[in-house]
Amino acid sequence: MFDIAAEIEKLSIVLYPHPSLRHQAKAIRRVDVELRNIIARMFDLMYEHRGVGLAATQVNIPLRLFIVNPSGRRGEGQESVFINPVVSRPRGNDEDEEGCLSLPGIYGNVVRSKTIRVNAYDLTGKEVDQEFTGFEARIIQHETDHLNGMLFIDRLSEGALRELEDGISELVVDFESRQRTGAIPANESLAKRLGDLESRYC
Ligand SMILES: [Zn+2]
Repeated sequence: MFDIAAEIEKLSIVLYPHPSLRHQAKAIRRVDVELRNIIARMFDLMYEHRGVGLAATQVNIPLRLFIVNPSGRRGEGQESVFINPVVSRPRGNDEDEEGCLSLPGIYGNVVRSKTIRVNAYDLTGKEVDQEFTGFEARIIQHETDHLNGMLFIDRLSEGALRELEDGISELVVDFESRQRTGAIPANESLAKRLGDLESRYC
């Protein structure tokens, strides 16, 4: 049987090219105490790695959910949970450097909309319908991409991507060797885990 408590205990940030990062996350139909525990654990991991946002697909959870704190520090700034987010009304363009906790050491310039509107639910089930701009809007667009299996490197120019080739290949070599030694489960067992989580929450 699928032991969700044990899974929460083991939750960690998966690195490129882990297949979960390419998974199309599914809408959440119910929130239970275990899902709240998953979210609490996501905040721990995000602060531990000094991130400002973290999507569920980055911890191998195939659900439409991400967390944000633009300050990147516990106890500072605004913590938000976005469940089933829908981004609309993009306005303006803004280019800035991005990184990703799933692509350590890789940075590149990404063009994003300057202002967006987001409709989502928070942890209490309250509907959020709000406009975001600047850095927060950038984080939300980056995390929404994650829920659709997209990474910021997919949005880089060919030239910029070529410059990052060596760092990206290193991540691939490292992932393949960890999968060979069994440190990362084989793709079939990863797929089964995602299926178990989907049937619980979707
Ligand atoms: Zn990311």
